Amino acid sequence: MGDAARAHMTVQDALSNVRDLRGKITPSAELAPLTWFRVGGPAEALFVPEDADDLANLLQQLPDEIPITVLGVGSNILVRDGGIRGVVVRLGSGFHNISKEDDSLVHVGAGVLDAVTARRAQKWGIGGLEFLSGVPGTIGGALRMNAGAYGSEIKDVFVSAQALDRRGKRYSLSAEDMGFAYRYSKAPPDFIFLSATLRGNPQSVEQIQTKMDEIKHSRETSQPIRTRTGGSTFKNPSDQTGRKAWQLIDEAGCRGLREGDAQVSEKHCNFLINHGHAKASDLENLGERVRQRVERQSRIKLEWEIRRVGEHVRMQRGSA
Ligand SMILES: Cc1cc2nc3c(=O)[nH]c(=O)nc-3n(C[C@H](O)[C@H](O)[C@H](O)COP(=O)(O)OP(=O)(O)OC[C@H]3O[C@@H](n4cnc5c(N)ncnc54)[C@H](O)[C@@H]3O)c2cc1C
Repeated sequence: MGDAARAHMTVQDALSNVRDLRGKITPSAELAPLTWFRVGGPAEALFVPEDADDLANLLQQLPDEIPITVLGVGSNILVRDGGIRGVVVRLGSGFHNISKEDDSLVHVGAGVLDAVTARRAQKWGIGGLEFLSGVPGTIGGALRMNAGAYGSEIKDVFVSAQALDRRGKRYSLSAEDMGFAYRYSKAPPDFIFLSATLRGNPQSVEQIQTKMDEIKHSRETSQPIRTRTGGSTFKNPSDQTGRKAWQLIDEAGCRGLREGDAQVSEKHCNFLINHGHAKASDLENLGERVRQRVERQSRIKLEWEIRRVGEHVRMQRGSA
């Protein structure tokens, strides 16, 4: 196919040329129900690959100009109101395996929930992964974000990960390749994680339960976890004062600030909440107002931790 023809190719055309896909494709798929905020426009197409070979098959055949976005369970993402161009990938049942390799190693698919990983490790008498019980995402999202809580993060338990690049080539990644930093991995942005091996340490089921109970109690008293939210909105700044994002937001008078149905949580002011009818733009504008006020107040520029993806304005049907 020539360049001119490709330039006008829609996502649906591109997908209809891909042979032997086994996973489900949904055109114009609503994404809001797949995210914690419950906002945002549709994906041009949603693909749920059955397993790694199915995903590799798509990546090998889909023309480079069709963008691909991976979604975990959408607990750290704000999908904009215009939706997401190209193909959104959500990992299917073939990414939900979890097994133990010895008395401290856990091999886990990227689609498995962090909390499920922590509970399964507990059943096997493997401690050190309790912090994952307090993070509501998937292992794939945890690898991308170097998720962490209560003094531990993925970096501390990471052994290796498997990933595919945009062309469907498979890689095995070491800790050095992942280059973890605070809520960040330097792994190429186009990599889709397939699975990970994590290292804990042998502990009694009761010891692990005690830690998980502490985490649960702490989260329930300090975070609005039963609301439509995206977790911590901004990263804690690495300035000299050591003040956390929520303290700066509080000092700038933003606790409880509202924009339509979007609000800065009264309970934890680094969380934004959708009270029901907020649009993605309300949440994003509110976040930007908070950033401006904090900068005016403390001269510190907060950096978004929540990943904002997609288009501000609704796409025309069939455009690509
Ligand atoms: C109530 C609440 C509490 C939270 N508490 C914490 C906390 O204590 N600590 C913490 O670190 N986070 C916390 N978060 C944020 C969030 O849960 C984590 O960042 C989590 O790791 C995101 O995982 P996810 O599957 O939801 O990813 P998504 O939100 O769907 O995606 C986040 C990013 O990861 C990428 N991604 C997802 N899957 C893959 C994959 N397989 N391969 C490559 N990239 C992928 C996405 O493209 C996106 O860039 C909280 C969120 C909420 C709503």
